[in-house]
Amino acid sequence: MASQVALKVKCPSCRKSLMDKAHKVDGQPAIGLRVDVRGKKGWLRLSPVYGSYKVESEFPIAQDALVRISCPHCQAALKSSSQCEVCGAPMVPMMLEEGGKVFICSRKGCKKHFLEFEDLNKALTKFYDTYALGGDRQQVLPGRKGPAVEEPDAKEIMASGSFLQSYCPHCKHTLINHCSLTFTVVGRGGEEGMLLLSPYLNVFTNSSTIEIPHGEEVRDLRCPHCDHSLLEKLKKCDRCGSRIAKVTVGAMHKLITFFICLRKGCTWHGISGEDTKMIMLEDSQEW
Ligand SMILES: [Zn+2]
Ligand SMILES: [Zn+2]
Ligand SMILES: [Zn+2]
Ligand SMILES: [Zn+2]
Repeated sequence: MASQVALKVKCPSCRKSLMDKAHKVDGQPAIGLRVDVRGKKGWLRLSPVYGSYKVESEFPIAQDALVRISCPHCQAALKSSSQCEVCGAPMVPMMLEEGGKVFICSRKGCKKHFLEFEDLNKALTKFYDTYALGGDRQQVLPGRKGPAVEEPDAKEIMASGSFLQSYCPHCKHTLINHCSLTFTVVGRGGEEGMLLLSPYLNVFTNSSTIEIPHGEEVRDLRCPHCDHSLLEKLKKCDRCGSRIAKVTVGAMHKLITFFICLRKGCTWHGISGEDTKMIMLEDSQEW
């Protein structure tokens, strides 16, 4: 299991904590809410682990039902003007205790959710300091010195299999959707589709909605939220010379710039010059 992040949220109206220490879901204090499904009311408990969809409720809720969620303290309905990009249902906002918001879809079974930060850099640093659970990666990663401990400047090593919590460097939205790193891809002939990559370092699985022949360099990768191109103009792939895309990754208690080669089948990743002083990618010499 890759690193898990447990959220702590509060009501956007009365600002009281929604964390229910008496009830745990996924081994962590649940997010305790009230739910209303066509007039039937009861309690609802969500997993606080970001990316987990575990839910418990007082009565069974039918798949695809729209639910209304309210605060157990002030009874205010938790609603926003944003709609789910997947199913069109209203999104339910909750405030993160450290600043920013998390949105979840109000349709039972829809897995759309996203985080929004006002100051991404600050929030993420706090996020990692405050919310890092004792998952193996999270525990091992920050303090872990590489196998080459004799190195005087002991860099931290980002291990193969680390979860790359990735964000668009332009709009700061997460690029992780349904446990994949998601991009809009533009093929050589200008055709557009979706490209899903593994979000784990050195795990190279991918799928796309357009045909991309092995070895072909795609024309562009774009953010699926703001449609900004992620092309990095000043650098090329160290291995094959193709163009590369740039994303922001939260790792090692900071944000780093992470590059991905645009040629399908090239397994090169890189990090920016400043970041290499502090962080090494595991097995990086072999790419
Ligand atoms: Zn409230
Ligand atoms: Zn939805
Ligand atoms: Zn964007
Ligand atoms: Zn390459």
